[in-house]
Amino acid sequence: MTAKVSGLRVARYREHNCSTKHRTYAAMAMCVWSRAGWGRQAVVKGDGPYAVVHWLKVGRSPVYAQVELFDDLEEAVDLYEKASDPTYCGGSCRKAGSRHRLVELVLP
Ligand SMILES: [Zn+2]
Ligand SMILES: [Zn+2]
Repeated sequence: MTAKVSGLRVARYREHNCSTKHRTYAAMAMCVWSRAGWGRQAVVKGDGPYAVVHWLKVGRSPVYAQVELFDDLEEAVDLYEKASDPTYCGGSCRKAGSRHRLVELVLP
């Protein structure tokens, strides 16, 4: 099911950081949000084209991405909106600035 979401910008990502043809959104997300030099790999949960990205900082770790993937745009939007409530996310997200992104992944 596709939903039209008014007033929300969904970034569309086709670019990733390697020359592999990723077959799953989870593999692509891992590639997009894990870069050499960032110090930590992304944590990817679920699978599907719609991603809600949190940035986390745990202890003295570098900031890294936690990506939650959904098949359904509505579910992703739901989480994205909940996460905009400053009390929704844990301290590790707040420590990194409580920034979230809503992204649609397009497999190469
Ligand atoms: Zn890649
Ligand atoms: Zn968060």
